[in-house]
Amino acid sequence: MKNFERTLVLIKPDGVERGLIGEVIRRFERVGLKLVAIKMLKPGREQVDRHYALTEEWMKGVFNKAKTKYDERGEKFPYTDHVSYGTHIKDGLVEFLCSAPIVAMVWEGEQSVALVRKLAGTTEPAGAAPGTIRGDLSLDSYTLSNGQERPIRNIVHASGAVAEADHEIAVWFTESEIVSYAHVNDPVLYDAKRFK
Ligand code: ADP
Repeated sequence: MKNFERTLVLIKPDGVERGLIGEVIRRFERVGLKLVAIKMLKPGREQVDRHYALTEEWMKGVFNKAKTKYDERGEKFPYTDHVSYGTHIKDGLVEFLCSAPIVAMVWEGEQSVALVRKLAGTTEPAGAAPGTIRGDLSLDSYTLSNGQERPIRNIVHASGAVAEADHEIAVWFTESEIVSYAHVNDPVLYDAKRFK
């Protein structure tokens, strides 16, 4: 069978402390993805720092996504500089993820990166579509989190692109921690001859 795409998912401290580990896993299992690595840990700063690289692109993305939402709602976006805003969000994220246990997982399957992003939903839970993890299981917003000067509590992290996934998986897992096994779904989902 071909080598399938892999993606990294983290259940953040809010997801773990709200007892949503099983609910999150269920959603990825039932769509047909295969869990190939999992661990619970309280990460160190260095690990989270490597995971969220403070690039110009990331800071601009964080700034623009938030500004767009404020604009859409007719609220004034009180920040002007993507570097200071992005740096502040990143510092908050490191503190958040290091504050309590998280669950790190690798999911494998056809176009798993895009599929998991779809199931996770958009960054802001208040605006995320129903049916998504963030839309169904949380209500946090830019306004609430920025007012409290903390990152949005949106239950999961999911890799944004295949290259990102490769980098992120290596932050949390060694190659020997990622397993390979036959799942009963495999022939039904992927075997061309299965229903002949
Ligand atoms: P995503 O997790 O949806 O890919 P980003 O990579 O842009 O989003 O941001 C990483 C995380 O940082 C988000 O999941 C969220 O927890 C937090 N975050 C991002 N932008 C903001 C913001 N403007 N205000 C508060 N928290 C934010």
